[in-house]
This record gives sequence, C-alpha cells and structure tokens, in this order.
Amino acid sequence: MPDPEEHPDVVRADRDAAREAVLGWYDEVARDLPWRRTDDPYAILVSEVMLQQTQVARVVPRFEDWLDRWPTAEALAAADRRDVLAAWVGLGYNSRAVRLQAACVVVAREGWPGDAKGLRALPGIGPYTAAAVASFAFGERVAAVDTNVVRISERLGLGEPDDLLPDDDRAPTWNQAAMELGATVCRARAADCPRCPAARWCRSAGRVVVPPRAAGGTRPRFEDTDRFVRGRIVAALASGGDWPDHLEPVRLERAIDGLVRDGLVVRTAAGVELREDHAG
Ligand code: SF4
Repeated sequence: MPDPEEHPDVVRADRDAAREAVLGWYDEVARDLPWRRTDDPYAILVSEVMLQQTQVARVVPRFEDWLDRWPTAEALAAADRRDVLAAWVGLGYNSRAVRLQAACVVVAREGWPGDAKGLRALPGIGPYTAAAVASFAFGERVAAVDTNVVRISERLGLGEPDDLLPDDDRAPTWNQAAMELGATVCRARAADCPRCPAARWCRSAGRVVVPPRAAGGTRPRFEDTDRFVRGRIVAALASGGDWPDHLEPVRLERAIDGLVRDGLVVRTAAGVELREDHAG
C-alpha cells in the first residue's frame, strides 16, 4: 500500500477514482426522497432534524404532513408550541422540535443565512446540519460530515472528508452519496465490501474488523428508558391526553426534572405545564 506521504499522487489518483465510482453508484441507487427533490432550505432543515432520530421510511410521511401544515419557516415560527410538540410525537427528542422552531423564529425575523457559517449561528443547528442545509439548499461546497461519512473516510484511507469532496458542482451529490454508502454498504457493524463501488481503491477492503459490542451491552427496551417517559409526558401535556400515571413516580419525577432542565416544561402549583413562551 503506497504511503500517502511518499506517494501523494497515487493517493490522489485513487481518491479521484473512488469518488467517481461512488458518484456513479449513487446515480443508480439513489432513492427518490421528497427532501432530495427540493432546494428549499426550510424543507431540507426539517428533513435533517427529523432524520437525526428516525428512519427514512418513517420520516417520509411525517415530513410531508409537516410541510403541508407548516410550509415555511415563517409558518412554523408562528405556530403554537403545543401544536408543534404534538405533531412531533414519535420523532424522537422533543427538544429538537423546540429548537427547530426557535431556528425558524430567527429566520422569520432575519431571513435565511446564506452559508453554513451563518446557519451554524441559528439556535440548535450543529455543524453537520448547517453543512447539510448549505450544501443541499445553496449548493455550497462544504462537507456534511456525519458519523457515516467519518467512518467511510477512515476506512477508505484516502484523506479527510474535506479531501474527498469534488471540486465541482457535484459536492452536494457527493455528500448524499457518501451518506448513502455509509448507511447501506459500509455500515458501522457490517462492511459489505464485495458490493462496494469503492472497494478497488479502499485501504480497508475485506479487512474491516467490527469491534465487539460493549460488555453487558444488551440495550434496554425503549419503554424502560427516560426518553420514553419524557415522550409520554410531553404528549400528554401537548394534546391533553392521559397522564402516564401508571409509570413509577420516581421515573416520572426524573423525566420531569430533565424536561425542566431542557426548558420544555415548568413546575407550577397545579403540577406540570408546557412552557408557554413559545419560541416567538
Ligand atoms: S471497501 Fe469495504 S471498508 Fe472500504 S469503503 Fe467499501 S465497504 Fe467500506
């Protein structure tokens, strides 16, 4: 295997070839997803936040319903927080919905920032999400680096995620392709090298050792997690549904403490309420 220090040209040539192969592969396998058909930064931001916690197939109908109900950042900014939280039920951490709305409040007031740096300054928008929106909505040449992209970069051994980005206007497509490769072929716990378009140039092809799961590492059932309890509490408060009083008081209290810390609920003389200061 050529040493990158001694043979930078070889590495560069392999990197270019691997990139072209992955882009060609993506062109054939890319799924037709609603957020891939738009360059609207709001729609892309909504999809990215939803996808942080939930699988693609489940996100598609929720994404479409969300856009029907709140088609713009301005519409979401003006929505009642109660409705936003009720619409988010089942999509993961409620604080993500609150932060999404908070970002839209700033956008409604000041307009969309034009690049990843500006997006990064919006409340609750991390470097990955900022880069993804800037790339897919504005065509900015910036690497959207999630865990999938980090992993394939490390395994390929052909440079950092930034080095892999094409110099031309295919940078956004590359971001999608790299994520797709990491999600479907070069996965964390199973690298399917025989099916990989980059195998010929990859420094780890056929040699990926998947680390064993952490000792004692069976995952708790979702129903046993604090996240589950927090979700039930917020759903009850947002929609006026049944309070989950069948759960142990100690679990309820711990979950409420977490929701108070995150600014989602307040304790009152009467019990617990959603914070009314909706992000507007
Ligand atoms: S050849 Fe294997 S290790 Fe290398 S990028 Fe493809 S799937 Fe991952």
